[in-house]
Amino acid sequence: MRVSIVGTGYVGLVTGVCLAERGHDVLCVDVDPVKVDMINSARAPIHEKGLPELLSRNCGHRLRACTDLADAVAATDLTFIAVGTPAAQGRIDLRHVERAALEIGAALKEKERYHAVIVKSTVIPGTTIGLVRTALQNASGKIAGDGFGLGMNPEFLTEGTAVADFSQPDRLVLGAIDARTHDVLRELYEQFDAGIPRIITNPSTAEMIKYASNAVLATMISFSNEIARLCTAVGGIDAIDVMRGVHEAAYFTARRADETITAGITSFLEPGCGFGGSCLPKDVTALIGQGREHGLDLGLLRSVLDINRTQADEVMRLIGRHFDSLNDLPVAVLGIAFKPDTGDVRESPAFPLIRRLKARGARITAFDPVAHPHEHEELSGVTLAGSLHEAVAGAQIVVLVTRWAEFSNLAGILQTLARQPLVVDGRRMLDPWAFDTYEGIGR
Ligand code: NAD
Repeated sequence: MRVSIVGTGYVGLVTGVCLAERGHDVLCVDVDPVKVDMINSARAPIHEKGLPELLSRNCGHRLRACTDLADAVAATDLTFIAVGTPAAQGRIDLRHVERAALEIGAALKEKERYHAVIVKSTVIPGTTIGLVRTALQNASGKIAGDGFGLGMNPEFLTEGTAVADFSQPDRLVLGAIDARTHDVLRELYEQFDAGIPRIITNPSTAEMIKYASNAVLATMISFSNEIARLCTAVGGIDAIDVMRGVHEAAYFTARRADETITAGITSFLEPGCGFGGSCLPKDVTALIGQGREHGLDLGLLRSVLDINRTQADEVMRLIGRHFDSLNDLPVAVLGIAFKPDTGDVRESPAFPLIRRLKARGARITAFDPVAHPHEHEELSGVTLAGSLHEAVAGAQIVVLVTRWAEFSNLAGILQTLARQPLVVDGRRMLDPWAFDTYEGIGR
């Protein structure tokens, strides 16, 4: 199939290379010419495992990038909308989606052949059959379901494992307004394993499946952090052992004769320094905003965000057990990316912590193996180290924020230093007994 994708970010690009790898002809469209040039010269604009290989295999023949959306619509049978949907002032900002839909609509006006438009961006339920349909119809002068097809196919990939997630998805949610668009979506994913569950539904249900999926993960994380706070307050309880005890329940860990299968959700049932990234915070915010517009107070989800917003205070409390003043104290922050195996720093939990450390006058050095956001406003006044060793040499406090595998070498590196810092383990990935002074979330 000939596919165009508007928005060549984490989702658009990974979708593009993976569909090209399956034999589709893909045209990626972005307003950013630098990204377009990089893709056309097979250079990955983002850090994602497996992406460079897929780019170099498909670039120039099955995968191309351009800035001209009208040409891309004319040359293809299906267009995905994969632009960003940030949250602003407590609700979803659909500006990019609307602009993309208007431009696609204008291109459809000039096109005679049937064309399907599929929303892949995470959009609040009702957006595809509301704002997107209206923009497409107004700009094209055609009627959805007659002049063109309209659907919603949410994306569940996770940064860090995006290529593998897209290539072997756990489910395919195919929402469409009519049978013809459903047929197009079925055909698009025909070569994917027949065993993958396919949820055939309407666009609004597809949209809500994505939000409910993200909201449950955010809820599990904040739940674990709230339990961990109580463990710390009571004393003598280790939240990690508590959660391990929870994980062993038969509804999380199934045991058969010779195999034990632990549900992946248990990795969200662990205390830490909070969730970040470009999805969970903004998607929960958007859901709460939609509830408000419908006269519903989504109190549970408001608490999920409140707990997350104040999780950096837990790290500060652990530091406060050892230091009254942080003024001019050298502090190393390990991890700037919001999670390991990505360079994405959007809404990283490192930032609220850095803000608090700055406010207390600490001298901060930060290190991340992949993310080097030198110009980021949250990092003004922060020194970016070139290595783990450089970051921790001279530090009196080391705070681990991101679960990068490289940080498991911390104890070995500290042993080579004359002075031993306080180590605050925001992810509980280190051995407490390997350090002179150690604090861990929920311990
Ligand atoms: P991103 O910010 O990485 O990429 C968006 C891209 O769209 C940018 O390159 C931008 O230049 C481009 N763009 C914006 N307006 C455009 C227009 N009118 N025409 C052409 N290009 C335009 O965003 P992302 O992380 O890929 O997320 C995209 C959507 O997918 C969001 O709705 C997000 O919630 C959702 N999503 C993201 C992830 C993830 O892990 N990042 C996972 C699942 C779903």
